[in-house]
Amino acid sequence: MSVNIAIDGPAGAGKSTIAKAVAKELEFIYVDTGAMYRAMALYLLRQGLSSETTEKMGEACANAEISIVYENGAQQVMLNGENVTGLLRQEEVGNMASVSSAVPQIREKLVELQRILASKENVVMDGRDIGTCVLPNAEVKVYLTASARTRALRRCKELEEKGVSCVLEEIEADINERDHRDMTREISPLKQAEDAVLLDSSDMTIEEVKEAIISLYKKTKEA
Ligand code: C5P
Repeated sequence: MSVNIAIDGPAGAGKSTIAKAVAKELEFIYVDTGAMYRAMALYLLRQGLSSETTEKMGEACANAEISIVYENGAQQVMLNGENVTGLLRQEEVGNMASVSSAVPQIREKLVELQRILASKENVVMDGRDIGTCVLPNAEVKVYLTASARTRALRRCKELEEKGVSCVLEEIEADINERDHRDMTREISPLKQAEDAVLLDSSDMTIEEVKEAIISLYKKTKEA
């Protein structure tokens, strides 16, 4: 049977960096579920839909086939046969994903894909609802968070490294808005699973968070 590690938390908490590092050390597969929601959002944007037209999204998602492949260990997201990985980190796509991810048909479709992946492989999966909904029986569950300001600073740094200029206050406002939407939506809102361990990464290094998760994993193995 496969082993599953679930990492949930708000935008910019460091989930993907940490999840990748843990997966590498344990030789597990890293699954970035946010990228799947982003690929779906990209599809909807390409269909000419906007975040105001949520009622059309459920039907539109039926024609989007999303799958995951790995190239040299890195997750690649395929949208109807096209590798769209490089297009997913734009703010427009992230903002659309945070709206379209509340649509039931979209969640159903992507959760099914995520569960299939986790049943076949040892995975470190990050997202918003992994511990609460997608993998309720995951061996390790972590809720990773950090202050909104810390998260905005990290997001700005990430964007600037890619040559995209940004205004910290705008990024922080976006993060707060996205958190609010993710936490208050009806289906699978972002929240800490009862059996998840809370880690606040505001004053922790990547290495410290990674070690904390690996030690949780080792404890469950010993138990
Ligand atoms: O983590 P990331 O910023 O890439 O996620 C983009 C959006 O996808 C989030 O704002 C959230 O609304 C949605 N999402 C979700 N459930 C997940 C992963 C992401 O609803 N498991």
